[in-house]
Amino acid sequence: EENLLEVRDLHVSFHTYNGEVQSVRGVDFQVKKGETLAIVGESGCGKSVTSQSIMGLIPQPPGKIRSGEILFEGRDLTRFSEKQMEKVRGKEIAMIFQDPMTSLNPTMTVGRQITEGLEKHQRLGKAEARQKAVEMLRLVGIPSPESRMNQYPHHFSGGMRQRAMIAIALACAPKLLIADEPTTALDVTIQAQILNRMNDLKKQLDTSIILITHDLGVVAETADRVAVMYAGKVVETGTVEEIFNRPRHPYTWGLMGSVPRLDLSSRETLRPIPGTPPDLLQPPQGCPFAGRCQYAMKICKTQMPETTEISGFHRTACWLEHPMSPAVTPPNEWVG
Ligand code: SF4
Ligand code: MG
Repeated sequence: EENLLEVRDLHVSFHTYNGEVQSVRGVDFQVKKGETLAIVGESGCGKSVTSQSIMGLIPQPPGKIRSGEILFEGRDLTRFSEKQMEKVRGKEIAMIFQDPMTSLNPTMTVGRQITEGLEKHQRLGKAEARQKAVEMLRLVGIPSPESRMNQYPHHFSGGMRQRAMIAIALACAPKLLIADEPTTALDVTIQAQILNRMNDLKKQLDTSIILITHDLGVVAETADRVAVMYAGKVVETGTVEEIFNRPRHPYTWGLMGSVPRLDLSSRETLRPIPGTPPDLLQPPQGCPFAGRCQYAMKICKTQMPETTEISGFHRTACWLEHPMSPAVTPPNEWVG
């Protein structure tokens, strides 16, 4: 399978009165065609900044993509002008947000917001676009879609708005859909329905999805692979099965601590871990988790561990996995 998206060594910072906040510090990951990658981590870990970078939505200034590449079908989006990005956004890469009202236009009927995308991006005629829009509303589970076409967003309930937003995003048949906490505001039943719809659509349209969430139940149900972020870095990646059943990074162990194995029905969210993440105005030299890790060694505080391949996609950045880890042979200068 080919990579639709490849993020390579991405660094993003924000200028503040107190200095540069280094929000994303060398992030690497890939998204294959038709797969769902979940990005998990505590708030402030850089997951939203990463997705906004992909969409070209980092306000510059105060934000700045300092280095790295975002290869979308081989084209580096970090080099695109705003004009070029406008052609990518909505059409090739679409984003759905936690709060649908931030992306729905309150002054335009829901039907028009869908047909606009169809006419503009799929070059359909008016009648054809209208017919397809009704189909899309039906597909995302909106009852009597014909009569809903002429209504405005405020006529829709929260769950219906979320569905409408997904229909609008998908009307353009994007190759990549980025969903940033798409269902957190909704009740569990509606969440499940929407996620099922997203999965159906993914299969029908071969869309790739980046799902940003702190809901591990959602991850277990919908993702193929998971990237765990901490303090602006990806600390572990693997299949859902590997991350849930065989996590290798102490931070992931902490997150998974409350989840009883890969339980598809569990609705657990990330468990709070004692302590706080490091200040990204002055990120630590060594492992960013060292201050909260009960396994931290001397070396962890001074040197950032390199990413070690466990198998296939399973990778982790932790000194415990280093071939010379004290778990294998303890060199004296590491411990103590
Ligand atoms: Fe803990 Fe050290 Fe591994 Fe960081 S590198 S997670 S501090 S053991
Ligand atoms: Mg966020």
